[in-house]
Amino acid sequence: AEEATLSTLQRSAELHARARELTPGGVHSNVRLNAPSVFFERGAGAWLWDVDGRDYVDYLLGQGPNFLGHAPTRVNEAVAAEARRGSVFGAQHVLENEAGELFLDTIGWAERVRFGATGTESDQAALRLARAATGRQKFVRFAGTYHGWLDNVLVKTVDGVTGPGSRGQLAHHVADSYVLPFNDVAALDATLSAHDDIAAVIVEPVMVNNGVIPPVDGFLKHVRRLCDRHGVVLIFDEVVTGFRVALGGAAERYRVRPDLAVYGKAMAGGWPVSAVAGSAELMDLFAGDVVHAGTFNGSVPACAAVIATLGILREDPPYARLEEYGATLMETIVEVGRAHGLPLRVQGLPMAFHVSFGDPALVRDYTGLAVLDLDRYTRFSHTLADHGIWVAGRGIWYVSAAHGEKEMAATRERLYSAAADAAADKV
Ligand code: PMP
Repeated sequence: AEEATLSTLQRSAELHARARELTPGGVHSNVRLNAPSVFFERGAGAWLWDVDGRDYVDYLLGQGPNFLGHAPTRVNEAVAAEARRGSVFGAQHVLENEAGELFLDTIGWAERVRFGATGTESDQAALRLARAATGRQKFVRFAGTYHGWLDNVLVKTVDGVTGPGSRGQLAHHVADSYVLPFNDVAALDATLSAHDDIAAVIVEPVMVNNGVIPPVDGFLKHVRRLCDRHGVVLIFDEVVTGFRVALGGAAERYRVRPDLAVYGKAMAGGWPVSAVAGSAELMDLFAGDVVHAGTFNGSVPACAAVIATLGILREDPPYARLEEYGATLMETIVEVGRAHGLPLRVQGLPMAFHVSFGDPALVRDYTGLAVLDLDRYTRFSHTLADHGIWVAGRGIWYVSAAHGEKEMAATRERLYSAAADAAADKV
């Protein structure tokens, strides 16, 4: 039988042509601009089905939210059942306390939580709180982290120089932050000592967004210590790591307590919910003249999704299985590369890791990624899609609680055939 390739996905191609007439680039998020233009019909567990009838083992998980797999029954049934009583009331409703209690009890270190809808906005809430609490204006962030698409956090670092990440961005916002290399304690020490205008350090505790770079031993503890010394608010952006790298997120995994943390993605089984959490002292500034708002914050379906998702994660924690599945998958990818003479390399954690071409030595910061052939991987990701593995073009692989033996077997087989194609230079 003739094998279908992405270029022969007829219905997807037709839908994409129409989509381009309806929405810029045919996509509703620029992150999807350069991905294969596949239209999906449905997802279930670790699988996706496109409109041309092909299936994919999914390691993109909607950029992370589908940590329980697609369409998790218990979550979706809870959302559907609770939504029968309504969605938003412009006032409180009975699920909010249950969601709040469960959330705080699960992360373990914080006293207050405010729900939102996206990581982008909850990051802004955390930064505003830090400025209000300290009376200072600026913040430190690290090159290669992502904290949303808004003007004060979207940056692009090229050859060590940081500038705006988008045309149309307010240029003066580039000066809002000091951008340092990840994993560089000395640079942080020097910057915090040299400037007294720093309200916060915001960090992805594992720098998932570029290279899935883990914190080197002790890095986060040093960051904590330096923030304490300078009276600076430490914000963990746990939008990716929260409920994923451990039930209590990176704070639990690396045993470092932030002052504030931002959550999203995995916390609601695929539904749009985010949160900012922290001490009563900091968070209760929102009870006064520090503004945080949002029509959809803490909606009925959002709270139902959080309650069901955290219920599942607490009753049947998937973390040990994920460690095993992810570790095997990482080894398999390297092994497949070796078998076909492709220098595939992996780094990161089993539940979120990075795949690229190049030297296997650990990359420690954004600049270090320059030694890798990321473009070659992006091309390879299209070959993987051709062979029924759905991944991000920028190399991040997410593993869900729904990946098991069947998915591993299918992945292994598909990886081998994709690598054979790539090695034969068919792509
Ligand atoms: N922070 C991090 C670490 C993220 O990875 C993302 C999204 N990829 C965000 C913030 C922004 O979240 P959202 O897309 O929900 O606005």
